[in-house]
Amino acid sequence: MAPTSKLITRFAPSPTGLLHLGHAYSAFTAWELARSAQGEFLLRVEDNDTQRCRPEYETALYRDLHWLGLSWPIPVLKLSDRFDVYHAVIDELLRRGLAYPCNCTRRDIQAALSAPQEGATAPPVYPGTCRHRTGDHPGPGDAVRLNLSAAVAVLNTEVLDWQETGTGQSVIHRIVPETLLASHGDVVLLRKDTRAAAYHLSVVVDDAAQNVTHVVRGADLAEATPLQRLLQYLLNLPTPTYHHHDLVRDANGKRLAKRDDARAIARYREDGYTVPEIRSLLGL
Ligand code: GLU
Repeated sequence: MAPTSKLITRFAPSPTGLLHLGHAYSAFTAWELARSAQGEFLLRVEDNDTQRCRPEYETALYRDLHWLGLSWPIPVLKLSDRFDVYHAVIDELLRRGLAYPCNCTRRDIQAALSAPQEGATAPPVYPGTCRHRTGDHPGPGDAVRLNLSAAVAVLNTEVLDWQETGTGQSVIHRIVPETLLASHGDVVLLRKDTRAAAYHLSVVVDDAAQNVTHVVRGADLAEATPLQRLLQYLLNLPTPTYHHHDLVRDANGKRLAKRDDARAIARYREDGYTVPEIRSLLGL
């Protein structure tokens, strides 16, 4: 696809459950941003987690989004069709000494962490046990991890920033390498069980492949952005503008999850709600 100056947004759900009101909010936000600029709204099916994704949820998400009044160009980009593309990118990072094979189990990682990370909400940062394998070829039982310190070293003195518009005004954020090292560490790029590319890798490759200019998604993914910005730099990919919107929460202030079926768009539809009523529930 040729680069374009048209504003392009995308909604990129994973078919691991029924879409809920939070997804409706995200999809409407991306749709309206595209419409307001005579741009384009794309749908991408992020079905890289082959263990949790189900065809019936994919069918359901098309139905729900159509019912909400949204449309998108077809064919839809599906991650499960693109494993070769991601593998080629991961091979490139391995060749450049920016990634390495890792066969640690969860238990190995827990055991290698010197101090229990009490109260931590995020998964613990990988302790780097296999980092000495940088330069090796991965075998069948290996995951592939980013060598984050090597990746940060490539930056040298370069400052990487990106534009965030989620708070209603435009703010420039920049990568702080020390924070990135402490918060993310050597993230997985290729999963060892399914051989699927991990989200951070596929998302930057796919946003670039689809010429996405504005990434609209929930605020829970804002912390992923510095790492994704770094991957864009390493892979010479463009950086979109990011718009992280507030999360839709239940009456107790808890963020909605796919397992909370009660908030599923399909349930509201079955209960006779109309789309304007859904929009008004969402404050739109
Ligand atoms: N597939 C991700 C999800 O369903 C969204 C990723 C993104 O928008 O960057 O949460």
